[in-house]
Amino acid sequence: MHAEHTVMSPDSWRRLPAAQQPDWPDPEALRAVVAELSDYPPLVFAGECDQLRSRLAQVTRGEAFVLQGGDCAETFREVTAEKVRDKIKTLLQMAAVLTYATSVPVVKIGRIAGQYSKPRSKPTEVRGGVELPVYRGDSVNGLEFTPESRRPDPERLKRMYHASAATLNLIRAFITGGYADLRQVHEWNRDFVASSPIGERYEDLAGAIDDALTFLAACGADPGEFHSAEFYSSHEALLLDYEAAFTRTDSRTALPYDVSAHMIWIGERTRRLDGAHVEFAARVRNPIGVKLGPGVSADEALALIDRLDPAREPGRLTFITRMGHDKVRDVLPGLVEKVTASGAQVVWLCDPMHGNTFEAPSGHKTRRFDDVLDEVRGFFEVHRALATHPGGIHIELTGEDVTECVGGGDHVAVSDLHQRYRTACDPRLNRYQSLDLAFQVAELYRERTTSVHQPGPRIASVA
Ligand code: PEP
Ligand code: MN
Repeated sequence: MHAEHTVMSPDSWRRLPAAQQPDWPDPEALRAVVAELSDYPPLVFAGECDQLRSRLAQVTRGEAFVLQGGDCAETFREVTAEKVRDKIKTLLQMAAVLTYATSVPVVKIGRIAGQYSKPRSKPTEVRGGVELPVYRGDSVNGLEFTPESRRPDPERLKRMYHASAATLNLIRAFITGGYADLRQVHEWNRDFVASSPIGERYEDLAGAIDDALTFLAACGADPGEFHSAEFYSSHEALLLDYEAAFTRTDSRTALPYDVSAHMIWIGERTRRLDGAHVEFAARVRNPIGVKLGPGVSADEALALIDRLDPAREPGRLTFITRMGHDKVRDVLPGLVEKVTASGAQVVWLCDPMHGNTFEAPSGHKTRRFDDVLDEVRGFFEVHRALATHPGGIHIELTGEDVTECVGGGDHVAVSDLHQRYRTACDPRLNRYQSLDLAFQVAELYRERTTSVHQPGPRIASVA
């Protein structure tokens, strides 16, 4: 069925235009680095990618919900046990809220352990009359505005690998070492309760989960699932030289996998049908995501399905829509309707971040929590009207108490943005805002199941 994967070389993308690639000053140095990377061990195993694909297939059947989240851009400096733990903690807390309230498994995917490369709207940046190459992520150059720092350096690709490996090692240690044990629901909240209403709300829910676990343990039920968690890595597959160096043939299936992450996605700026990114993704077996902005046509989406999921395999393809809160209700219905009518079974995720960015008077790039929530609400409304499954959310967040997005949880004001604005790229929800969002999304999901799966007035079913 997948014969074409082996017939075509995974290098076929090299013949096509690749958008958003750095202008490496020394191509020979790049070649040497890529050759070295090609011998590095894999970061993930093909079998794990297959397992994620089967989880995502559950999502297409409406049996599970996806939580995908993490930084817009990870940085090498922030690969510390504490920072990684706080991100994992935030995602685990959100997942606990969502699982408890929705009663479906939550597939947990980090934008983590490889999210180091950024597409940019302009190739250069001007400050005080000085023009330098734009920051393209720690995998390419430095954020500091100096000629040395902004010069693309392929040695950074090796640092990207090592930073990803160290991060994944921490995640695997936290997850298998007991940190993700459901008995830790209170522990994840320990530093949080006293200081916030959201922390208190979470504590109530953690208490309910604890009661349920105690009851089940008393009944003799203590399954392994309670003591660990499945956690997957993902990033935008932007730098094709790097991704190609980690494309390896799986010994079991003889098929190529990109072993730099479990799931990779193609961004809004690099998803052209005749471009290198789509060609690359078409040749690897990982679950693939594609970001779709408000300008996408249903025909383009259908053509992407033909290219990336010709076998119509549930779990293979995820569409991550990022329309903007003011457009989602207009643009999404036609798209979902036509894709559904084509028979394709894709996962639909809502990225309520990238269509809702604006510049504050202070110059900070920011997002309003209310706009983020409104896009998610619109996403749920559209799927409810079409009786399709709102498969999950894709969020930019951090475990830290940053002031990058306004509103939500602890009411960050526009005038507060300068206080702890730390992102290397786009503004992220802080931990309060992330948990606040999880509670609200859980409610939207419950409303959705109430009216779709149990139609008619409640009183009628009682009678
Ligand atoms: C991102 O996810 O950080 C990003 C650049 O998104 P998009 O491709 O949707 O603009
Ligand atoms: Mn971003």
